[in-house]
Amino acid sequence: MSQDVIILWYRNDLRIHDHEPLYKALKANSQIIPIYCLDPRQFGQTNFGFPKTGVFRAKFLLESIVDLRNSLQKLGSNLVIFQDKPEIAIPRLAEQLSAKSVFFHQEVTAEEVKVERAVHQALKQIGVKLKSFWGYTLYHPDDLPFEINQLPELFTNFRKDVEKNSSVNPTFPTIQKLPSLPEIEIGELPTLSDLNLEIPPLDSRGVLEFKGGETAAKERVKNYFWQQDCLKVYKETRNGMLGANYSSKFSPWLALGCLSPRYIYEQVKEYEYQRVKNQSTYWLVFELLWRDYFRFICQKHGNKIFHKSGLQGVVIPWQEDWEKFQKWQAGKTGFPLVDANMCELLATGFMSNRGRQNVASFLTKNLGINWQMGAEWFESLLIDYDVCSNWGNWNYTAGVGNDARGFRYFNIIKQAKDYDPEGKYVKYWLPELGKVPAAKVHEPWKLLSVEQDRFGVKIGVDYPQTIVDLWQSVKENEKIYNTALNITEGRRKKEEGRRKKEEGRRKKEKS
Ligand SMILES: Cc1cc2nc3c(=O)[nH]c(=O)nc-3n(C[C@H](O)[C@H](O)[C@H](O)COP(=O)(O)OP(=O)(O)OC[C@H]3O[C@@H](n4cnc5c(N)ncnc54)[C@H](O)[C@@H]3O)c2cc1C
Repeated sequence: MSQDVIILWYRNDLRIHDHEPLYKALKANSQIIPIYCLDPRQFGQTNFGFPKTGVFRAKFLLESIVDLRNSLQKLGSNLVIFQDKPEIAIPRLAEQLSAKSVFFHQEVTAEEVKVERAVHQALKQIGVKLKSFWGYTLYHPDDLPFEINQLPELFTNFRKDVEKNSSVNPTFPTIQKLPSLPEIEIGELPTLSDLNLEIPPLDSRGVLEFKGGETAAKERVKNYFWQQDCLKVYKETRNGMLGANYSSKFSPWLALGCLSPRYIYEQVKEYEYQRVKNQSTYWLVFELLWRDYFRFICQKHGNKIFHKSGLQGVVIPWQEDWEKFQKWQAGKTGFPLVDANMCELLATGFMSNRGRQNVASFLTKNLGINWQMGAEWFESLLIDYDVCSNWGNWNYTAGVGNDARGFRYFNIIKQAKDYDPEGKYVKYWLPELGKVPAAKVHEPWKLLSVEQDRFGVKIGVDYPQTIVDLWQSVKENEKIYNTALNITEGRRKKEEGRRKKEEGRRKKEKS
C-alpha cells in the first residue's frame, strides 16, 4: 500500500528540534515533503517605502534555510524550495504528489493569516487538508489559565496568572531519521543579489557575528550558558549596550524559529540544576514571557496593533516630519545616546533593548513623530524582527499600547548617564566624540568653544547640533498626548453611557 503524503510547510519555524508538525508527520508514518516558500511579498516595501526585509535579515534568513536543508539532508530528507507565494506553490505541489495534507505552524498577524487563508482556500478546492499547530511561544495557548479573548491587558497580570497556574510543556523528542524524498525538483535558494539586495559589509563593531540557522543557534545557547557562564549574571548585565554577552542575543534565532523557547527553558532548568538557580536564571524566562505576551495580545486584538491609534485607540495627531525622521534614522539628532544606537542599527541590524526603548521614546515623546514610521524602520533593519514583539513594543513605547501608565518618556540624558556612565558606548559608535571627557560626552551641545577645540570636535560641523529642545519637546508632546487621551476617554464614556441607555431601553421593552 502506498504511503500518505504530508507536505510540511516551513515558515518562521526553521528548525528540527521541538517541532510538532515534523514530529506528528513522522508519527503518522507518512511520506514527508518539507518545503519553504520564499514569498516575493516579503521582499517588497513597507507602507512608508522601506525595504520590507532589509539585507541583514535577508542574509540571516538565507543562512537559516541552508542550515535547515543541511540538517534535513543529514536525516535522509531534504528541503524543497520555492520562490513563489505559498498559495500558488503548495496546492501545485499537493496536486503533483497527490498529497493528503499540509502541516504547518500557525501565525497570528494579518499578513501571515491572510496567506494561511489563501492556502486553505486553494487546498480546499482540491480536497487537501490543512492542519495547523502552535509552536512559537513558551506556553501553549491550550495551557493558559484563560481564553485568549480574556487575556489580561497588562503584562504583570498576565505573567502572574501564567506563572501560578500554567506550566511549560516538554520539547518534542529529537528526530533521528526521515523518509527520503521522491523524485522531485528541490529548487534553488536565491542569492542576496537575486533579491535585489547587496551583501552587507561585515562591521566588526557588531555585538555578534550573527549566523542564521539552528546549528548556530544551539551553539550560541551553549556558549552563553555553559561555556561563558553568563546566565548566572544575566539580570545584572542585561541592560548593557556593548559586547556579545550583556544579554543572550537569542532574538534573531527565536524570531525565525531556529530556536524553540521551550528548548531554552529546558536549558535554563538544566543550568539551575547543574550550576546555580538565582534571580538571573528566573529573569531570562521572565523576558521570554514578554515575547509570549505580545504574541497572545496580537492574537487577541487582531489588526489593532498596527493601527496608528494602537491597542488603546488613542487618536494622537502624530507628525510625519521627514526631515527630522531622516536625522533620527541616520543617527544625526545631536543626542549621542540616540545617535550611537541608530548608527549601530544601521551598520549591523541589531540594537540592545535599552537602546530600542530610548530611541523609540525619543522619536515619539520628543519628536512627536508617527510611531508607525519607527516601527517600519525597525521592521526593515532588525535582524531579529518579530512582528508581534516589534509592533507590541512600539505600541507600548509610543503610549498607544495597553500600558496603563499614560505619558511615559525616557529622560535620554539620565539614561545615558545611568547606562553608559563612562561614555564608552557612545564613543564606540561616534568616534568624533572620542576625546570628550565622560562627564561631558552625553551633552555635547553644552561644550564651550574652547572645549570643542581642546576635544577636537566642532559641534554643528563634526557632530550635529541638537534637532530639538529635550524638555520643551517633552512638555509639548505630553500636552498633545493628554488632550488626545482625554478626548478618547470622553468618547469612551459617552459610548458606554449610550450603550447602557440602549440596554435599559431594550430591557424595558421586553418587560
Ligand atoms: C521598540 C522596540 C522594538 C522591539 N522589536 C523587537 C523585535 O522586532 N524582535 C524581538 O525579538 N524583540 C524586539 N524587541 C524586544 C527586545 O529589545 C529584544 O528582544 C532584545 O533586545 C533582544 O536581545 P536579546 O536576545 O539579547 O535579549 P535578552 O535580554 O537576552 O532576552 C531574551 C529573549 O527574551 C525576549 N525578550 C526580551 N525582551 C523582550 C521584549 N521587551 N519584548 C519581547 N520579547 C522580549 C526575546 O525573545 C529575547 O531574545 C523590541 C523592543 C523595543 C523597545
